[in-house]
Amino acid sequence: MSESKDFLRTIVEEDLKSGKYKEVITRFPPEPNGFPHIGHAKSICINFGIARDYHGHCNLRMDDTNPTTEDMKYVEALKDAVTWLGFEWADKVYFASDYFPKIYDYAVQLVKMGKAYVDSLNEEEIREYRGTVTTAGKRSKFADRSIEENLDLLERMKKGEFKDGEHVLRAKIDMSAPNMKMRDPLLYRIRHAHHFRTGDEWCIYPMYDFAHCLSDYCEGVTHSICTLEFENNRDIYDWVLDELELKLPRPYQHEFARLGMNYTVMSKRKFLELVNDGYVNGWDDPRMPTIAGYKRRGYTAESILNFCDQIGIAKANSMVDVAQLEFCIRDDLNTKVPRVMCVLDPLKIIIENYEGEEEIDASCYPHDVPKEGSRKLPFSKEIYIERDDFMENPPEGYFRLTPSQPVRLKHAYILTCKEVVKDANGNIIEIKAEYHPDSRSGSDTSGIKVKSAIHWVSAKHAKAVEVRLYERLYSVEAPEGLEDLNPDSLHIIKNAFVEPAVITQKPDVRFQFERQGYFYADPIDYTDDLPVFNKIVGLKDSWTKKAEAPKSQTKKVLVEGTVAPMSEEEQVFFDKYTLAFGLNNEIANILARDAELSSFYEETLSFVNSPVSLANIVANEVARELKLEATLKFSAKEISELVTMIDEGTISNKIAKQVFEEMAKSGENPTAIVEAQGLTQISDPEKLKPIIDEVIAKNPDNVAKFKAGNTNLFGFFVGQVLKNSGGKANPTVVNELVTEKLKHV
Ligand code: ATP
Ligand code: MG
Repeated sequence: MSESKDFLRTIVEEDLKSGKYKEVITRFPPEPNGFPHIGHAKSICINFGIARDYHGHCNLRMDDTNPTTEDMKYVEALKDAVTWLGFEWADKVYFASDYFPKIYDYAVQLVKMGKAYVDSLNEEEIREYRGTVTTAGKRSKFADRSIEENLDLLERMKKGEFKDGEHVLRAKIDMSAPNMKMRDPLLYRIRHAHHFRTGDEWCIYPMYDFAHCLSDYCEGVTHSICTLEFENNRDIYDWVLDELELKLPRPYQHEFARLGMNYTVMSKRKFLELVNDGYVNGWDDPRMPTIAGYKRRGYTAESILNFCDQIGIAKANSMVDVAQLEFCIRDDLNTKVPRVMCVLDPLKIIIENYEGEEEIDASCYPHDVPKEGSRKLPFSKEIYIERDDFMENPPEGYFRLTPSQPVRLKHAYILTCKEVVKDANGNIIEIKAEYHPDSRSGSDTSGIKVKSAIHWVSAKHAKAVEVRLYERLYSVEAPEGLEDLNPDSLHIIKNAFVEPAVITQKPDVRFQFERQGYFYADPIDYTDDLPVFNKIVGLKDSWTKKAEAPKSQTKKVLVEGTVAPMSEEEQVFFDKYTLAFGLNNEIANILARDAELSSFYEETLSFVNSPVSLANIVANEVARELKLEATLKFSAKEISELVTMIDEGTISNKIAKQVFEEMAKSGENPTAIVEAQGLTQISDPEKLKPIIDEVIAKNPDNVAKFKAGNTNLFGFFVGQVLKNSGGKANPTVVNELVTEKLKHV
């Protein structure tokens, strides 16, 4: 159990203590219309986790009330996901469709009580009659039907005498209720559709709001935990159970914030589109944020559980950085998996003064990992190194092999380049080199200084493998749809070479390929003839909030982990950035370790003395652009102009990002972009007040809730104002004005 108790566990404990319930029963109630994603993992951890912590049980229940989208293959995927995460459901898998007869009986009961009626308005009329948040709705004339007539119509609906949409069953509640959901909600609709379990037995299907509370009740659920968007549905949930006089242990609904993560959408519907239209290779494509995708990619269940634990359970929606998930998997694998060598882009080296072969006993784990083990690493006259670990005309600061600079072969000898062999077109095809016999790792008496160690494999002993490298599926931080997909999310390397120790019969194996990242033998496509490895995650951590990681153990890994020590030059930059400029370690690290970035950053500083704002843009936006593009469309001077506009309050940080995207795309000057598009930040209270007034007027429900004590809604109002201003309102000013306004409404 997590060390600190979340608000749901607090509720559960109180309910047990007060004797309200003897046993805790929760449920995880997915709709089987797609594979579960990382958001569902959070819900699984909460529901199954609470049941386990309090010695109750959790039901896995398919919420299969929508016949047209559901399928047994999704049921199987849901079962797999729960099992893989290490949870067990009680006795059997439950289905809401098993309760169709009971739910129907409850509907009849409500009709008999005069609490439900058959309405014959069409869909559009129903919507119209519902009214708006500011105006009351009006009741349908059919609401006056007698109980007998309602019973007769309901039965004939069930028998299939009517077409889709001809009638619906509605609860008779209140057409002017402030909560719109309570304006005579629909309980049943007609759908002449084949259901994957009940077949053609039913042609009326209960709506979520009617089926869910009753399914919970049928199973003896005590705590019905769902995400915040169901907050307004809670009134119906209670209304149904109260009207039917269902007594304790009846369930109560509690809401938590759903997981949102940057660089991904989080919706089965959108994933279905990716799968159906071939943007990915199935639901378990390793780029997908589905549990099946993570599993196939090589994530461990532990890392996902840790992630869910770290992000915690809150009552306000927030966005989690995907780098935090990547951090969790790296953190988990760091202490578990052996280090081996794999060359992705081979360049052959002939070691002219080496004859024969030998086997090196090479350790699989670095000193700071509490695990031991070694493998036999063959060494011979011909080896492969990574093509970019050699440069004929290196720039300053290049520490690997060059015609004049020796390098260490990891676990083996120091190597000196003797001759560069090229083809007719001038491409380097191989290197002739010499090794230094007295320089072997662990017993080096050569006295030769090298600046780095590189990975390699013996050509004769190496095995060709396929390596699949994945980038983020979406290229923007808050993707909306297909237009935001990253066109380069998959790179397949057909002819990488691994050392013999990597080739194994065992399924489910993971490795760290030195200097490349963590890799997993693809559980589906791997064969002895062509082993296939998926890149799970790279070695470098980019999670900016990592310093806030809750566990002390986590911090230790970060400091002592696999990150290479800084060179002297890098260290000088790093010290200056942290000590003189006050940048945080993460940003300073990104800038200092990348020669191109630090020189760009230094140049921007020559135009404007704003080290912190500049660093943020350079380490994030500029760094990303450098990675993607060969040449930058903007100059250091233009970045400094952009930062000046932020610093002076001309534009907001949010708008600055938008301007930056435009600069990177079109090469336009930032001042010109801001002027042309009218992006100047609005700080004038007189201009902001009308926007605020409008937001307040449009949301009377939320104003009432805020006044009744739901202070979380403050963020809602500010967010709406920022949104309605097109992101241009000055957030600080809006905060002050909204605070003031809410005191007086
Ligand atoms: P999607 O929009 O992806 O289809 P959903 O909410 O419709 O998701 P369901 O199958 O209805 O998916 O959800 C099953 C359970 O998982 C529900 O209790 C739901 O609240 C929860 N859940 C779904 N998405 C998330 C999320 N992003 N974070 C936390 N819980 C989630
Ligand atoms: Mg749903």
